[in-house]
Amino acid sequence: MGVLTGRTALVTGASRGIGRGIAERLGRDGARVAVHYGSNEAAAKETVAAIEAAGGSAFEIRADLAEPGAAQGLWEEFEARADGLDILVNNAGIGTSSAFAEIEEAEFDRLFTVNTKAPFFLAQLAAPRLREGGRIINISSGVTRTTLLPDLMPYAMTKSALDVFTRYLARVLGPRGITANTVAPGIVDTDVNAEWLRASDEAWAGAAAFSVLGKVGTPAEIADVVAFLASPDGRWVTGQWVDATGGSLV
Ligand code: NAD
Repeated sequence: MGVLTGRTALVTGASRGIGRGIAERLGRDGARVAVHYGSNEAAAKETVAAIEAAGGSAFEIRADLAEPGAAQGLWEEFEARADGLDILVNNAGIGTSSAFAEIEEAEFDRLFTVNTKAPFFLAQLAAPRLREGGRIINISSGVTRTTLLPDLMPYAMTKSALDVFTRYLARVLGPRGITANTVAPGIVDTDVNAEWLRASDEAWAGAAAFSVLGKVGTPAEIADVVAFLASPDGRWVTGQWVDATGGSLV
């Protein structure tokens, strides 16, 4: 029996990286996990298999969150396959290498669609169905609280909107006993960062130096924070921006 036995979780972008780490952790804690993915079915099936191998229960759901109506399609498929929802983790997200001076409108729109609009509408669909004690956890980023990485300005804007959304959600859903929080990772060792992070020892050391703990974060370290918020022990924490940057903003 885990602390989440009998609960159902939906984790977006769970085919790899932080989302996979979260899905596996919630699965180990006993939740039945809906593993959402955008395009890589084989990777999503690997996440499902890893959860099952650890004794848990999971299934995968596909939806391209950049497409119009994606949240609706994802939600309908989820409802057809699950018996209610307790934990929604809006993790799927994209970055951009285009900074303030270069970014074009189509890319700006895509960023906001995947990082901000999709979590908003998924939460809107999920909220009425979330059971008492439900949780919404949105994955933001430490860059909403610092300007040290100015090239990330458009990305940070999408995540800042998510931060504000989360605080409002906490107020709107609080009367029903549902909490809403943001978890903000710092630099994490995932595929999206692999190219620059693993380019040289200097790049790795520079990334590690952001954290006062002197290391680069791992998906498991973010998943552990999410697991606390999702657990019964996290019931009195809501509307918070939870720093999971290893002290990068200290
Ligand atoms: P990742 O690229 O490894 O994984 C992102 C996930 O989102 C993937 O599963 C991908 O399939 C999914 N996704 C992306 N676009 C999608 C779309 N159009 N439709 C459906 N799914 C889509 O990234 P990650 O590093 O694991 O990041 C996970 C979350 O954490 C993101 O929201 C990211 O912004 C945030 N974050 C990451 C870091 C970091 O350093 N890695 C730091 C701060 C915040």
